[in-house]
Amino acid sequence: MGRSNDSTPWLFIFKVRAMVEKFTMAFFGGKTGGRKMIIVMKRNATKAQIDLVMKWVESVGYKSHPSYGVERTIIGVVGDDRNKAHLKQAESLSGVENTMPILKPYKLASREAKEGNTTIRIKNIEIGGPQFIVMAGPCSIESEEQLMESAYIVKKGGGNILRGGAFKPRTSPYSFQGMEEEGLKLLKKAGEAIDIPVITEVLNTSDVDLVEEYADILQIGARNVQNFALLKKVGGARKPVMLKRGLMTTIEELLMSAEYIISSGNDNVILCERGIRTFETATRNTLDISAVPVLKELTHLPVIVDPSHASGHWKYIIPLTRAAVAVGADGVMVEVHPEPEKAFSDGMQSLKPAKFYQLMEEVKILEKTMRTEIYR
Ligand code: PEP
Ligand code: MN
Repeated sequence: MGRSNDSTPWLFIFKVRAMVEKFTMAFFGGKTGGRKMIIVMKRNATKAQIDLVMKWVESVGYKSHPSYGVERTIIGVVGDDRNKAHLKQAESLSGVENTMPILKPYKLASREAKEGNTTIRIKNIEIGGPQFIVMAGPCSIESEEQLMESAYIVKKGGGNILRGGAFKPRTSPYSFQGMEEEGLKLLKKAGEAIDIPVITEVLNTSDVDLVEEYADILQIGARNVQNFALLKKVGGARKPVMLKRGLMTTIEELLMSAEYIISSGNDNVILCERGIRTFETATRNTLDISAVPVLKELTHLPVIVDPSHASGHWKYIIPLTRAAVAVGADGVMVEVHPEPEKAFSDGMQSLKPAKFYQLMEEVKILEKTMRTEIYR
């Protein structure tokens, strides 16, 4: 009996339609007929309120896809647009903040998904808040002496976060690859000695747990910006992540990578513009300063500028830092070395102590005049 019903033209048409819909969803997700709308729940919405909203969504012929964020729940609504007016009615349900169409492929990273800016508090500093943050330190951790000296320079200048690479992504396999766990231990010790948080790069999924033990912020380097396995893994970490833009990634791709981390459970993502590869050879990369206001418009995440890797030369770090403050970045990451000429990596783009102090003085002055609400 069932078999003969299956062969009726009606059922056949429905089945084909269902298959096409399934295919469109699977391959195009939010870009075509997929997620069209989000219902943003209030911060304090209860589980019962969320469940009721989802039931209601189904009752008016849509499917709901909830994402339970740390701060609030957002319900993605999928379905035919013809009933759009109904979805607006969700705003009258209890626990609902508002509804809005999803225009961007990245959702949780987008301004549409959150009110205000993401601010990340680590110890007594706040990234993405009113203060312009300076992350500074050597490219690589080379020895206890070198790192401690660097740390005291950073502290003396008034830097906010100490950087130092223990796992180094080097273009050549013959270049110094980093001190690995020993370097991580030194970094933690140095951070404690000067009482500021530390940031370091994690290169592999297998090292995430280890790096998380020692670092306050996990850095994902430019070369790993689309290493989706690594992004998902740090999405499961309890420490904030600074995601550097790749040499060849568009702003949208960077935000999609941030989306991987956030959708895997880690809301504390910081973006870093570190220069992109262009036809220009006078500088190591080209600092895409426009990326800062563009990102500020598109996302609630903090944005940091790295003038060291962008320019490749210490001479340009101070001028580009001035630009970073003026353009509305939340901070900079700069390389500093007690003796750049002896550095194991990136000596040419590392500031000497005196230049770092000058940079800090300039930041203090510029911050007062330029970092106003207008740039936020
Ligand atoms: C770094 O900051 O140490 C680094 C390797 O930078 P990037 O990933 O931007 O090249
Ligand atoms: Mn470097």
